[in-house]
Amino acid sequence: MTRGTVRGRVSESCRRGKHSRCRDPDCRCPCHFDGKVRNEIIDIPFDPEMAKAALEGRKCCTSRSKAYGKPGDRFPIDGALFVLEDVSMRILEDVAYQLYREEGFETPQRFIETWDRLHPGKGFKPEKTVYTHWFQRAEATC
Ligand SMILES: [Zn+2]
Ligand SMILES: [Zn+2]
Repeated sequence: MTRGTVRGRVSESCRRGKHSRCRDPDCRCPCHFDGKVRNEIIDIPFDPEMAKAALEGRKCCTSRSKAYGKPGDRFPIDGALFVLEDVSMRILEDVAYQLYREEGFETPQRFIETWDRLHPGKGFKPEKTVYTHWFQRAEATC
């Protein structure tokens, strides 16, 4: 991210700091740019426990039932901007047993318990296909 090189009109929502709400394709706010490439600002909902883990650097991926974006897209968590590095498909069982640390959990069982809590009724299904979103903190410029 190059700081301060993008000039021009900035949308109302970006001026107010609501970067994820910006839907203006002409907005020049730096939050949309990585070098010269425009990236989308997307919303990925996080429950408070998971948001905290991401903000503290203990969580670098999140697996979801659908893909929320593509690499390069940015999303805010509690005002901090993150960038999607990669989105890939795998089965939920592999996430629980191979990626629980990256997901921000101490054990596979803790991941499974949290999945159950966040998906009432459906629960943890080992064979379910999920989209693992890898992310890291973006260098926020606005
Ligand atoms: Zn912005
Ligand atoms: Zn904008």
